[in-house]
Amino acid sequence: MSTSRQPPAITIAIVNGAVWTGEPNRPWAEAVALSGERIAVVGSTSEIRSRISPETRLIDARGGMVVPGFVDSHVHFLSGGMNLASVQLRDARTPADFIARIKTFAASVQPGTWITGGDWDHQNWGGELPQRSWIDSITPNNPVWINRLDGHMALANTAAMRAAKVPPSGGDVAGGTIVRDGSGAPTGIFKDNAQDLIDPAVPDPTAAMLDRALDAAMTYVAERGVTSVDHMGTWADLAVFERANKARKLRTRIYAAVPLSTWGRLRDTVRARGQGDSWLRIGGLKGFVDGSLGSHTAAMMKPFTDAPSDSGLLVNTPEDLYSWTSSADKSHLHVIVHAIGDRAINLQLNIFERVERENGPRDRRFRIEHAQHIAAADIPRFAELGVIPSMQPYHAIDDGRWAEKVIGPERARTTYAFRSLRDTGARLAFGSDWFVAPPTPLEGIYAAVTRRTLDDKHPGGWIPEQKITVEDALRAYTTGGAYASFQETEKGSLTPGKLADVVIIDRDLTKIAPETIRDAKIEYTIVGGRVVFERVNAAH
Ligand SMILES: [Zn+2]
Repeated sequence: MSTSRQPPAITIAIVNGAVWTGEPNRPWAEAVALSGERIAVVGSTSEIRSRISPETRLIDARGGMVVPGFVDSHVHFLSGGMNLASVQLRDARTPADFIARIKTFAASVQPGTWITGGDWDHQNWGGELPQRSWIDSITPNNPVWINRLDGHMALANTAAMRAAKVPPSGGDVAGGTIVRDGSGAPTGIFKDNAQDLIDPAVPDPTAAMLDRALDAAMTYVAERGVTSVDHMGTWADLAVFERANKARKLRTRIYAAVPLSTWGRLRDTVRARGQGDSWLRIGGLKGFVDGSLGSHTAAMMKPFTDAPSDSGLLVNTPEDLYSWTSSADKSHLHVIVHAIGDRAINLQLNIFERVERENGPRDRRFRIEHAQHIAAADIPRFAELGVIPSMQPYHAIDDGRWAEKVIGPERARTTYAFRSLRDTGARLAFGSDWFVAPPTPLEGIYAAVTRRTLDDKHPGGWIPEQKITVEDALRAYTTGGAYASFQETEKGSLTPGKLADVVIIDRDLTKIAPETIRDAKIEYTIVGGRVVFERVNAAH
């Protein structure tokens, strides 16, 4: 009997594509054959046609691009899913529009229901911060606690402040700011750690709400070609993912990071249960050094250009960050740290360097999330120390509208330094930071390749010397993302034997004008050999 030698049955065959494999030795092909949850063959259309059977599902890519499933290396998956069902403020262009949308949404929910999410951006109307007085009269019966799109500040209405028992004066919080009016009363804006004054008053979502949010999030990212996410969240989030995985309901692969300060609990959990499977993995810890540029809470070496007495803040002490990083590393856990300002990035790079020296060589893949405003001298240190810059190119074209106002032209030159990092040999991983930005890799690739800001004021690109190529950006969203979570032997490229995570795009991104990349459409998203999204009018 020779059954064991029979080539595996082909379940899905994708032919006539511009197949970008992500494999340096064989970057391009025409066709891909999948067998169950794995990739079986990558080759020519004729070769793969010869392998199909009546049971094979044949997909004609019609010259479109076939790429490895996108890895979004930084999301807040459940907040993203929850926000889909809440008030939408991201594109509110004026205070009047902002107020009108909240009014409409408040009319659609029960009295007493908290209104959260929102993702507003005061930079859309020139930078004036919203205040509770704008919305108190239209939301008398609903506590409102809505965040700026970066999650580093949020607006509470008076009902929310009352529910949270915020004192009328005093009560300042380390690592945070309470914005006050001329009389010292809080305006309703709470930044970074000051958000902890309101957060505990928000009722916890029920398990059913969280399950729904996860399902909505998986659908939303599948439509965008995302097959894997690195989730930055909590132990409670992990429980939601575990419930879905047990019920075999995951359609997105999740690497779920938990807070860095809880490294001891993660060490014990990994010892007891391992790191999980290809759908849900643990082993990562996420910490914070500073806040964000848009909230003026990024930690800078020199003051902000538009706020000369302010150079941002640290949300944790250097001593804590060192001790958590070192302890987690000794337990062979993966340390992932948010650092945005040049002072924050320098501080965490120094900690990584020290921990590596003290704990000895190891494949540790330390990550700095965002890595937005890097001091020029620190750029080569990413490659030297093997630290992964995990970046969100969409932020560059979003912040690029106003960032120079905040940091000045000199510091802007090493901002979102994709090209300099790449040229010094750093291994980039790209993502969105959804809910902060849309989880849309095609937008991210457009952003990294063109650097055209959202207001279209930089048609040749904002800091154009930091542009990278389509293939560089694709690598950061595929092989780079897989590497950043220690999964490059299982996914990230179209390689026989790897997981069958495949995306079909309606055009070859390397053959079109870069400014049209964002017009490209995802036709199919396949995860583990299963079609999880297909465009309705994709006539195949
Ligand atoms: Zn984030």
